Amino acid sequence: MIEITAIPALQDNYIWVIHDNSHAAVVDPGESEPVLAFLRTRNLQLDAILCTHRHGDHIGGIAALREVYNVPVYGRRHTKNPHITNDLYEGAQVKLAALDIEFDIIEVPGHLDDHIAFITPGFVFCGDVLFGGGCGRNFEGTPAQLHHSLQRLAHLPDSMRVYCAHEYTAANLRFALACEPGNQALQQRIAATQQLRAANQPTLPSTIALEKATNPFLRCTLPEIIHTLQHRGLTDTSELGVFTALREWKNHF
Ligand SMILES: [Zn+2]
Repeated sequence: MIEITAIPALQDNYIWVIHDNSHAAVVDPGESEPVLAFLRTRNLQLDAILCTHRHGDHIGGIAALREVYNVPVYGRRHTKNPHITNDLYEGAQVKLAALDIEFDIIEVPGHLDDHIAFITPGFVFCGDVLFGGGCGRNFEGTPAQLHHSLQRLAHLPDSMRVYCAHEYTAANLRFALACEPGNQALQQRIAATQQLRAANQPTLPSTIALEKATNPFLRCTLPEIIHTLQHRGLTDTSELGVFTALREWKNHF
């Protein structure tokens, strides 16, 4: 029976651990100590490290983890991420035999050019591309690339659970409400998020269905969002025009 556990790390990162009673794989270990502590407490053997992208808060713990567990590191090799042992591209597969899991790899550029996502039936690890109620910043590439990447994730099955790498949901939903004050599903999600955070619980994983219902970056054709942006001076009401304006507004929100 597979479990997926969030290890809070650094400022607001989640390091996701995929595990059963004896084996584990870890996603985006930005630091090593909390992962090592978790593995020791649960008496788990680390089998693999998965890496969605090369930002320091996602790879900072890899070297120290590999001093203890000399395991493969799956991701995209880059001069700024030399830890990768298994270089992954669109269409690649990652088989974790001990956990009986196989991931399909898709490329999702737009936060960074070489960002990838790990998909397996039922769940996706999407790093900093899609967040609860929001999306990653457009550090590299174009808004069109980021939009396309988000649309690929949005077309995954509704029930698929979305494991994002940061606890940004509450702040993202405040922005979402400014975009779309009449969205009832969004209002419900804000209430649920407040309860979870008050209890110091993660607001993640989300689901594709919940994101499509509440995340403005996946709702760029909705009239209320378009109207909100028109009041802010938007003239290009194409889906990409709306997306680009949302991303720009959120940067300063
Ligand atoms: Zn990042």
